[in-house]
Amino acid sequence: MQSSQNIVMSGIRPTGYLHLGNYFGALRNYVRMQDEHPCFFMVADLHSLTTHPDTKTLRESVTRVLAENIACGLDPEKVALYCQSHVPETAELYLYFNMLAYKGELEKTTTFKDKARLQPDNINAGLLTYPVLQTADILLHRANLVPVGKDQEQHLEMARNFAQRFNHRYGDIFPEPQAFNYGQELVKVPSLDGVGKMSKSENQNATLYLADDDDSIRKKLMKAKTDAGPTQPAQPKPDYIENLFSLMRLVSAPDVLAQFEAAYEGCTIRYGDMKKQLGEDMVRFIAPIRSRAAEIQSDETYLKKVMQLGAEKARTSAVQTLSAVRAAMGLNYY
Ligand code: ADP
Repeated sequence: MQSSQNIVMSGIRPTGYLHLGNYFGALRNYVRMQDEHPCFFMVADLHSLTTHPDTKTLRESVTRVLAENIACGLDPEKVALYCQSHVPETAELYLYFNMLAYKGELEKTTTFKDKARLQPDNINAGLLTYPVLQTADILLHRANLVPVGKDQEQHLEMARNFAQRFNHRYGDIFPEPQAFNYGQELVKVPSLDGVGKMSKSENQNATLYLADDDDSIRKKLMKAKTDAGPTQPAQPKPDYIENLFSLMRLVSAPDVLAQFEAAYEGCTIRYGDMKKQLGEDMVRFIAPIRSRAAEIQSDETYLKKVMQLGAEKARTSAVQTLSAVRAAMGLNYY
């Protein structure tokens, strides 16, 4: 039966270095939620195979994402922090949901269309059914709160549809999961060139990574797109300028932000100064995470223990759900 308790689940793909978008869209919420609800956080290594079939660097990426999660403040004792491939029950639930997902709706998914455009020679079935696997990841723990960025909104809507279809056909087993952010709005951290969002594998010079060294952070910010500045009071900000203010809102002190907002209003803003200030505030934010993550990543024994503990917790929950699912579907023949 559905639980009235909130259960949290989310995941990040090990397809590259974590960046500010992952932090502010996902990790920041994970860290806060771990003190409030039971939480399942996963390194989505199976999902990464839809776009990154070469597994040579997977082990390193998985340990780095785990280390970065812990460096950002996740406590593996408090939450279940695990690798998706360590929980084989995921594949079984994925199979059941695949029978309830239709080709037409999967083909219409924005992320599918974007990725199919990026890899026309590898439009595999896993890419098409990505939202189904994601639904299985979430509902495997009957989670109802999913801390994610704005790019995941459509996937969550699909997860609710699949949950409803299952419940309608076989009985009330699953909650309808909602995307979650502590603010009202889901977050999208834009890329520094003003085109699209920061991301692990695209726009690397316009994305700030949690592993970037101090100089790269400063340089990337100094190169961010600006213009000659506003010419009239209360002029609306162009997107690429709004982006810089958004980043400042995330990492700078409120009085620093207020000072630049006032300078913009009064048409006296100097973007060079703003980017310099933002560079220093960003370095102060990223440097401690970077060094903690490097330290954790070098401790293989510790990370192995984290993975084992996480897999145990995740499988305990998964086995319970699957047993309820099989019973609801009438697959419990003996
Ligand atoms: P990426 O797009 O970098 O490969 P993932 O698909 O692994 O990231 O997503 C991991 C989490 O990070 C998801 O919750 C996603 O919504 C969030 N996320 C990724 N990029 C951004 C961004 N630029 N702004 C806000 N959240 C983001």
